[in-house]
Amino acid sequence: VCPTAALTEMYHTDKVWAAINDPDKHVVVQTAPAIRVALGELFGMEAGSRVTGKMVTALKRMGFDAVFDTDFGADVTIMEEASEFIYRLENNKTLPMLTSCCPAWVKFIEHQFPELLEVPSTSKSPHIMFGTIAKTYYAEKNNIDPDNIVVVSIMPCIAKKAEAARPELTKDEHNNVDIVVTTRELGAMIKEAGIEFTQLPDSEFDHPLGETTGASVIFGTTGGVAEAAVRTAYEWITGDELKGEDVVFQQLRGATGLRDATVKMGDREIRIGIASGLGNARRLLEEIREGKSKYDIIEIMACPGGCIGGGGQPYHHGNDEVIKKRQQGLYQEDKEKKVRKSHENREVLKLYEEYIGKPFGDKAHRLLHTHYEERERI
Ligand code: SF4
Repeated sequence: VCPTAALTEMYHTDKVWAAINDPDKHVVVQTAPAIRVALGELFGMEAGSRVTGKMVTALKRMGFDAVFDTDFGADVTIMEEASEFIYRLENNKTLPMLTSCCPAWVKFIEHQFPELLEVPSTSKSPHIMFGTIAKTYYAEKNNIDPDNIVVVSIMPCIAKKAEAARPELTKDEHNNVDIVVTTRELGAMIKEAGIEFTQLPDSEFDHPLGETTGASVIFGTTGGVAEAAVRTAYEWITGDELKGEDVVFQQLRGATGLRDATVKMGDREIRIGIASGLGNARRLLEEIREGKSKYDIIEIMACPGGCIGGGGQPYHHGNDEVIKKRQQGLYQEDKEKKVRKSHENREVLKLYEEYIGKPFGDKAHRLLHTHYEERERI
């Protein structure tokens, strides 16, 4: 504990309890993929233990009106990012395209490389997309006034708190996420509620925003967003189906901070760069600025290992073994999923059919995309 309290962690759990206890509010909660392989550590379980079902039960017992999965938002993100990538590729637009799920790295590029703001995908991050969908599509479908919906995000990440407060993401009716709490804060709330976490039975996420795929689960680890995007882009570009274990692009997996791979898609070779940690990100961004980048897509995550190593997760003190176990937990969950490609998520397809229309189309742009701004250099 910091003796001067200058480093006291900011908890927002009181706001969540207040929302749950307000009878006029419909409180929905979403959980990021990285949470499910780390939350158990706060209750004495082994790193990487998958506690998805116990976590859902705990959230239901705590009193949330609906318990959803940010993985749904991740599948929507892939629908948008893969469409945007193909659009850029076929129309000689800016490449490489950088993934934009990580708000810490987005802030980094805004401050440090403002001349490259055309490079990141304009897709909002998965939990922000989810918030928008909850306050539009879900609100309409269930006849709930969006002003009475409170969206709570449980994230592995402290930067997501600042992201949810970005003016361009809060200024209109698509005000997305109301409260962000971390994995550690969720652990504290479960303890406050007196729930014996390890003894809980499993429950399922609610619907219609609860169906998810193996592609969205691996968003929680470095390389996972790129792999999920490749699964969809490959099928859309080539028209060929990835069957069984063909969905696993082993060359995109691993935990080292800087990796690359080439994936053949028809007669094109798509070159992919992956960086985790901002020092590695800087190297790839400097190559782009100097016109020397060889990549078509780059995934960047600010935290070493990706979100499984995020600043809101149970402390792991730089222990690589913990990161590897959490990563294996996500890969195992992907392997056990019946549907492993984002564009085959039936509830996501229904969302497009009933409400959004074409991926990367006009309504998708209004609801699911954002922009970036130059910020003061620091
Ligand atoms: Fe947050 Fe780290 Fe994940 Fe970026 S990589 S979204 S900073 S947890």
